[in-house]
Amino acid sequence: MRATVFNGPRDVRVEEVPDAALREPTDVVVRVTHACICGSDLWPYRGELLIYGEHGRMGHEFMGVVDDVGPEVRTLRKGDRVIAPFAFSDGVCEYCSGGLHTSCVHGGYWGAQNDGGQGEAVRVPWADGTLVKLPESVDLGDARLAAAVATLTDVMCTGQHAAVSAGVGPGGTAVVVGDGAVGLCGVLAAKRQGADRIIVMGRHDDRLAIARRFGATDEVRERGPEGVARVQELTGGGAPHVLECVGTGQSFATAIGACRPGGTVGHVGVPVEPIALGDVHGRNIGLVGGVCPARAYQPELLADVLAGVIDPSPVLDLTVTLDGVPDGYAAMDERRAVKALVTL
Ligand SMILES: [Zn+2]
Repeated sequence: MRATVFNGPRDVRVEEVPDAALREPTDVVVRVTHACICGSDLWPYRGELLIYGEHGRMGHEFMGVVDDVGPEVRTLRKGDRVIAPFAFSDGVCEYCSGGLHTSCVHGGYWGAQNDGGQGEAVRVPWADGTLVKLPESVDLGDARLAAAVATLTDVMCTGQHAAVSAGVGPGGTAVVVGDGAVGLCGVLAAKRQGADRIIVMGRHDDRLAIARRFGATDEVRERGPEGVARVQELTGGGAPHVLECVGTGQSFATAIGACRPGGTVGHVGVPVEPIALGDVHGRNIGLVGGVCPARAYQPELLADVLAGVIDPSPVLDLTVTLDGVPDGYAAMDERRAVKALVTL
């Protein structure tokens, strides 16, 4: 089969690799129909965070059709259409039962030595606990709907996790730091949680336009201390709920600075730099969040996507084929696209 492989900084290639195949009795093999390229994939792409290792498989966002089923799989059959969260999990351990699938005692991540999402097929361990089946009525021939569903493999769940972690509720004021796909989904999630006022911090016209469509009421283009000062001015001393959606030291510092004393920062960006805690301590700011347990959020968000309550599809503003994946990376790296959808 063919799959995307990391060959070095800014060098990803689609190569012939061994076919995905059952290994454990609780496995299934999924033939991928749609995948995405993630902003967090740009760290290894730029050679900054080698999460996929040398010559590792790439991609952690995919959905498709069950093609082969292990003898101990109970809830899935050949032909079922499924979406995968960006980490696999058994669905039954203490952590999965508590909604923290990313800490599953049997869990793990796609890519590297495991099959990656940007390929023709994926071996899925613990399939019953990992995959979410799509209702048969769902028409993935509808490109907008397929894109909306594809965001549930990661970014829409991650935006939701940021909003929930920040404690956003009806009538509240929320600040969203970052206008990438996760930040934009954070705006949509804050709106979904009932926030009255949503201030997005970013500076790309095309992305801020999407943020407004998703429910942002204000935008702050200034960055760093100027951005913090602007938010303080707009909110009279900071917002009680702040969504950190990037992961850089500057983004965390901005989120903490924009937060009201006693407020909460819901953080989901992969932290790539150390974070200063002096201000967190001094103003009793809660830091809640982490890697998103997407499997926990998928059922409720899928229901809302299918009911038309939310439509995150605008964050996928580029579509490529499997052969076009290297171009998709380049387009996201050069900010010519927010996020790329891969159709197979
Ligand atoms: Zn588990």
